[in-house]
Amino acid sequence: MKPEISVVIPVYNEEAGLANLFARLYPAMDELGLPYEVIFVNDGSRDNSVAILAEQYRKRPDVTRVVLFNGNYGQHMAILAGFEQTHGQIVITLDADLQNPPEEIHKLIAKMREGYDYVGSIRRKRQDSAWRTVASKAMNRVRERITNIHITDQGNMLRAYGRNVIDLVNQCGEVNTFVPALAYKFARKPTEIVVEHEERAAGESKYSLYSLIRLNFDLMTGFSLVPLQMFSLLGMTLALLSALLVIVLVVRRFLLGAEAEGVFTLFAIAFFFMGVILFGIGLVGEYVGRIYQQVRARPRYVVATILQGVPPDMAEVNALEKRQVGR
Ligand code: UDP
Ligand code: MG
Repeated sequence: MKPEISVVIPVYNEEAGLANLFARLYPAMDELGLPYEVIFVNDGSRDNSVAILAEQYRKRPDVTRVVLFNGNYGQHMAILAGFEQTHGQIVITLDADLQNPPEEIHKLIAKMREGYDYVGSIRRKRQDSAWRTVASKAMNRVRERITNIHITDQGNMLRAYGRNVIDLVNQCGEVNTFVPALAYKFARKPTEIVVEHEERAAGESKYSLYSLIRLNFDLMTGFSLVPLQMFSLLGMTLALLSALLVIVLVVRRFLLGAEAEGVFTLFAIAFFFMGVILFGIGLVGEYVGRIYQQVRARPRYVVATILQGVPPDMAEVNALEKRQVGR
């Protein structure tokens, strides 16, 4: 039967929590009473995750598919690879660490049924470390101002997307992207609901401070040119002020003669501007680097294999072979 709901879950070194995830996800999905499929994408885990996923596939091959990457390409690439395998009219994403309770999925589906094609979610009470919550709120505000993507809680992956949105996302070849924002671009009628959030059930966050910064750059550069435009505006303003300063200095030179005081002030101003210039060059570099990655057009990720389809019942296969031999 064609699945109506597809659930996509990226997995990276989650051996400690997968059993718990299965124990809650499958009953929650079964309870919906709708044909569904769960697509796990293993993002190059180096622990036992692959074996655990394969075991789960053997247990529930009717509703489980496992995409295995040959390396670590990041959460968002894993989700995109999962999207390509989906068949459902509604596609749900969630994290493997149980921070997004599977019991909330039915709320997303109910909201989709009201005619929306993108249901985001807002964490009622975010269960992450204080510094992450604060930093992420700040980034959320920046994104809200410099892009035209309106998501209340961007870091939350528990979301539902309509088939129309997924089909368009699948046509994109973006190398560095942020799935909730990309999908939002294609949504005709987006909305949000409030959901619960839990502490990570097992293991640790797979994001270092560095990878979080990289991810936020992907979001800002991928969906906005405002940082570049702000720099050209800043440059124009500074050039104008400098021109005024030159005029003032020239006038002073003729009125008062040669002056050479205030060397330290000059240093301070020069160092400040050097900082601004380096920041500007770095910012341009962020865009240029992404353009470079994009034009090289290497495969975004490499799928080693996909576990899918109901494995043939060996008794039946043997019987078939015998009959053919007999003929
Ligand atoms: N993840 C992934 N590849 C990565 C990092 C993370 O597939 O390179 C997965 C991870 O297994 C989890 C989800 O993305 O299912 C969110 O990761 P995590 O919970 O570590 O992030 P956090 O909740 O700390 O933002
Ligand atoms: Mg998490």
